[in-house]
Amino acid sequence: MRSRRRPAATDRDAEKEPLPAYMGERAATFALCRQTAALLTATFGDLCEEASMIGAEMQQDVIACCRDLVRARSLAGREREAAEAAERWMRRLGYDVVAVDRYGSVVGIIHGRAPGPYIHLDGHLDTVPATALELWTHEPYGAELSDGKIWGRGATDMKGPLAAMICAAASLDRARIRGTIGVSASVAEEELEGPALNAIIAERRPDLVIIGESTMLQAGIGQKGRAGIRVTTHGQPAHSSVPHKGDNAVYRMMDVIARLRAIEAPHDTLLGAGVMELVEIVSSPYPGTSIVPDRCDVRWDRRLVRGETRTSVLEGIRAALGGLDQVGVAYLDVTVPCYTGATLRSDDFHPAWEIHPEHELVRAALRAAEAAGVEPRTCTIAYCTNGSGSAGDLGIPSIIIGPGDAAQFHVVDEYISVDQLTRGVAVYATMLAYLAS
Ligand SMILES: [Zn+2]
Repeated sequence: MRSRRRPAATDRDAEKEPLPAYMGERAATFALCRQTAALLTATFGDLCEEASMIGAEMQQDVIACCRDLVRARSLAGREREAAEAAERWMRRLGYDVVAVDRYGSVVGIIHGRAPGPYIHLDGHLDTVPATALELWTHEPYGAELSDGKIWGRGATDMKGPLAAMICAAASLDRARIRGTIGVSASVAEEELEGPALNAIIAERRPDLVIIGESTMLQAGIGQKGRAGIRVTTHGQPAHSSVPHKGDNAVYRMMDVIARLRAIEAPHDTLLGAGVMELVEIVSSPYPGTSIVPDRCDVRWDRRLVRGETRTSVLEGIRAALGGLDQVGVAYLDVTVPCYTGATLRSDDFHPAWEIHPEHELVRAALRAAEAAGVEPRTCTIAYCTNGSGSAGDLGIPSIIIGPGDAAQFHVVDEYISVDQLTRGVAVYATMLAYLAS
């Protein structure tokens, strides 16, 4: 194993934990890395070969960074503690610039020795809450390390992948890379996919974006979009003993629902079928004893495919509701009060997108996976990510690739395996070396 460039020795040396016993598993990965070393050297040169092999010190760093992040609770808008942990790690690992933007996202920058592309990696800091606490067998914010896994809310979604990105970017020998590498620990993704990253992109203007959501290190070349739509019907209130004197908004809504359920979902050869699902219905007044409701609100979750736009989605719904009066249709308006005091606000529309399978980002991802002992494969992503901002809204070539299994998202006893976490560092470092050398 070659030694890696390290920042000057600091108090971090004193904080090192002994390597856990299961680290023996890592030997297999290193063997695989060595097997592919000749191929890598021929293809990318020395830098990529080195990047694909991560040492024991880096393993300890990524484990410790992931655990620090998991210990810091971070619901959307309340990410301060986790943001401070990310900032601490970036400073410790020698990032050239570490800054916090107005919404509270942390951005670390590493400059190469010569001009070149700006590659930006993004992972969100916020998590969904830990629910059904009685079912957890590991403390949700304990970041327990056992059975080769780090346990806790956000371990996979997505503090583990974020830790892997932070460590991977710092591991590169910057005297031998061109351009700029940025890593963001962004806020509020669980509420709004895209806007927090878009704010970073507007300021930094990257050429390529890597979204670190979990794919088991497969290359995510396309992602369904998401929209939250509110449909409202209006009526006339009356005493429910004389309902003919009123106009029941719920009955009108029943017509609306029947028509919207009859809409045929759009189909996409890459991403599959679009989805339109009713997720909430509320009549008003609520509770509604002895009164004919004069209003009904239904919330629909739309999963979008390529080609669907802000305008086309609403037009399709309005066309299906043609002839019905007193019906309103609009995107939800989502407001996230950030921990900095700023407010992140957007309509709830986040488009689908794709990247060409021959794009250099995809080639880099496949080769990096192979170098880390992962079968190189492309995949598509059914859930929504910040890629809807970078690629969908802004058209910047983006890819989704991250360690960990999406089956761990939002579940009881969430975990990420140390094996995936460390392979994640190797994959990101190799991708960056390939793209920046
Ligand atoms: Zn996520």
